Amino acid sequence: MQINGDYHIHTNYCPHGSSDRMEEYVQAAIKKGLNAISFTEHAPLPPSFTDPVPKKDSAMRLEDVESYISEGNKLKEQYKDKLKINIGFEVDYIKGFEAETMEFLNQFGEEIDDAILSVHMLQTSDNSYVCLDYSVEAFSEIITLFGSVDAVYQAYFQTVASSINADLGPFKPTRIGHINLVEKFSKQYPPINNYEKEIIKLLHLVKQRNYTLDANTAGLYKEFCKKMYPPKNIMETANELGIALIPGSDSHTAKTVTRGFDNYPSTIILANPHK
Ligand SMILES: [Zn+2]
Ligand SMILES: [Zn+2]
Repeated sequence: MQINGDYHIHTNYCPHGSSDRMEEYVQAAIKKGLNAISFTEHAPLPPSFTDPVPKKDSAMRLEDVESYISEGNKLKEQYKDKLKINIGFEVDYIKGFEAETMEFLNQFGEEIDDAILSVHMLQTSDNSYVCLDYSVEAFSEIITLFGSVDAVYQAYFQTVASSINADLGPFKPTRIGHINLVEKFSKQYPPINNYEKEIIKLLHLVKQRNYTLDANTAGLYKEFCKKMYPPKNIMETANELGIALIPGSDSHTAKTVTRGFDNYPSTIILANPHK
């Protein structure tokens, strides 16, 4: 099917990404024939939250938000005849930090066009936090911390459920990011149980709230994952339930805009929000 937009794109405002500038993504998108993109930079983590990754580079800095939005707005105007540009965030849902997350959303919600809500951080039993998708080595430490691979999966899916149910105010993102991100290292650390039922439960929560799903191709290119977020069978269920699947490459470089879009299963209907 013809896909008109890539709705999950990062920028140089993300400290763990590349230095490719927003305009390079815009030009790449135009070259690829897209009609629309969404910049969804990692929103700053809550001020009182300590980023658990070594370089503390999981998200953009709060002091950069205004320039991110204004650079995006300039491009929006400059390229308005060629490309619909949405400015937005990929917002972390962090259990226990809902109030600060809501505060951020209330501050910037009116200035943005699009947003994704994602779980990357898991709370441990001693109330510290780990970043789920940082590296395969870190994932192995997380398994030790939680006791088993399956315990990590359970904690992850519970946290995603909390994210869907959370009250984050009127600007809460309504698209759930990479709903099976916990599978990023599954070829190295496979769980014993199958979590399809858990994911389908999450889809029902998504449906109840009329939210949408990130149909994210990035997992295809992760050494220990090699599948999309979510995989085909879950996309099919989403289609059956009438949940919109929004295509996104999760690009952190301009050259990967639309990467993997040829690999969406031909039976799946993707939404073309063209927001
Ligand atoms: Zn990122
Ligand atoms: Zn993400």
